[in-house]
Amino acid sequence: MAQKPDNGDKLPTDRLLPGKSFRQGCTAKAAAPLAAEATSGLLGLSLPRRTALIASLAPLLPQAALARTGTGAHTSLSTHSHNTLHAPAIIRGAAPPPPLVMLDPGHGGKDPGAVGYSGTYEKHVSEAAAAELERQLLATGRYRVALTRSSDRFIPLEGRVEMAQAHKASLFISMHADALHDSAVRGASVYTLAGAASDSQTAMIAQSENSADLFGGPHVHATSPEVQQILASLVSEETRRGSTHIANQVVSSFQSRISLLSHPHRHAAFVVLKAADIPSVLVEMGFMSNRSDEAALRQAGHRAMVAGAMRDAVDRYFATTRIGVG
Ligand SMILES: [Zn+2]
Repeated sequence: MAQKPDNGDKLPTDRLLPGKSFRQGCTAKAAAPLAAEATSGLLGLSLPRRTALIASLAPLLPQAALARTGTGAHTSLSTHSHNTLHAPAIIRGAAPPPPLVMLDPGHGGKDPGAVGYSGTYEKHVSEAAAAELERQLLATGRYRVALTRSSDRFIPLEGRVEMAQAHKASLFISMHADALHDSAVRGASVYTLAGAASDSQTAMIAQSENSADLFGGPHVHATSPEVQQILASLVSEETRRGSTHIANQVVSSFQSRISLLSHPHRHAAFVVLKAADIPSVLVEMGFMSNRSDEAALRQAGHRAMVAGAMRDAVDRYFATTRIGVG
């Protein structure tokens, strides 16, 4: 609790353990299955293998997830967002509640995420940025907002998706600041789900983000390449269009305000983006491996600017789509 970041310039100054560097952190993550580089598609499998895989996926499907979570996901949400989670009672003829935007600060608890150039933990940056975006979205009066976490705790990737589904979220935004081996690379980027990565750098980022579940223990089935392929194929065309739409809005909002990677809208098999019925996007707000990006993301003023750009993107998204409205 003493390390809980706030919206001021008080992010914890995490220091690397002796002999450890962000580069080593990335290397450790590289032991994860390389989901984004999966080459065996569903159609390439034998029928019995395909049937077995689909059966093994049943617990991951949205309906099954909803049935399993029940009210559990509600109670697992923190009191921090408590006031924003209760829709007005729906009575005949009443206006529908405003759309619910689910914010997902990456990592947390025993999973620090990327460790920055000077030792900042990604989990603290993502939590502080999500809290700021929550504040800005609520200030518009147009949305309900829920967070997958608002304290420093570990949540498996599957659990994050299930929370969004349990809340019938209209939009899912995962917030991160990863590290790359090349400390010269900087800038924000935006990711949507696809079976194959758009480029090798994106494959590495997806691999790194998906490996968060390595912290959760051995029973992680969702990171197998074959399962990743199937999950990607389950995403409906409508959801895919919505995800692309919000990604484009985020990129265009960022364009005039913060530095971007080249080709800033990319795609790969991110586990946390797999909800078949909720347009989902993952935003890398910068790279902790870059000295300038890390320094900027430690500043509350910079995080407020990033959040402001994302709020504008959410505004344009809902103004130009009917998803989640009504
Ligand atoms: Zn991350």
